[in-house]
Amino acid sequence: MANRIVISEQLCKGCGLCVVACPHNLIEMSTELNKHGFFPAVITPDAMLSCTGCTFCAQVCPDVAIEVFRER
Ligand code: SF4
Ligand code: SF4
Repeated sequence: MANRIVISEQLCKGCGLCVVACPHNLIEMSTELNKHGFFPAVITPDAMLSCTGCTFCAQVCPDVAIEVFRER
């Protein structure tokens, strides 16, 4: 299984810290609001292919909205 992250759209407050933290600029902000009125962080399937599983994005997220699954 490849490295991947899962961002909880509903937990995300749209702070953008994970966007800055990703050393490969893989995360972006959605143009669609979540149900709380925030623009959540998202990652495209193409971008996910470059994820190294470093966990930086998850470590900086104040809302624990990101899970990282590392390649075995
Ligand atoms: S785990 Fe690392 S490489 Fe993957 S999206 Fe998060 S910060 Fe970027
Ligand atoms: S750091 Fe967490 S709360 Fe902030 S945009 Fe990223 S996923 Fe959302």
